[in-house]
Amino acid sequence: MAWKCQRCGNCCRVEGYVRLRPGEADLLAEAMELPAGEFIDKYTHLTADRQCLSLTEKQDGSCIFLLKNNTCEINDLKPAQCRNFPHKWHFSGYEELCRGLSDPGHSTGEEENSEE
Ligand code: SF4
Repeated sequence: MAWKCQRCGNCCRVEGYVRLRPGEADLLAEAMELPAGEFIDKYTHLTADRQCLSLTEKQDGSCIFLLKNNTCEINDLKPAQCRNFPHKWHFSGYEELCRGLSDPGHSTGEEENSEE
């Protein structure tokens, strides 16, 4: 897939969970120098299916870690779900929202900070 992140932040505003995998809350808490429980209370909530934690949303629905300049506050440690978009998963209609797919200069298919 030809794609290069354009920092539009649209994928961080779309409705839905940013699910954390086991260990990701601990990693983020450690990086933020917070006790794990405090990080979980402040930045996460339980998903409706009660299977995992999701990052909290701001009032406008965007991710709690999306900054005003459309960068991710935890970019170096962002969850696998974020790193894997859009190569390993995507949501319905993402072609219309993701500017990384419409950039005429894209060619690599990889973001410099994407994993795997
Ligand atoms: S953690 Fe970062 S990349 Fe993931 S949704 Fe939040 S702001 Fe976006």
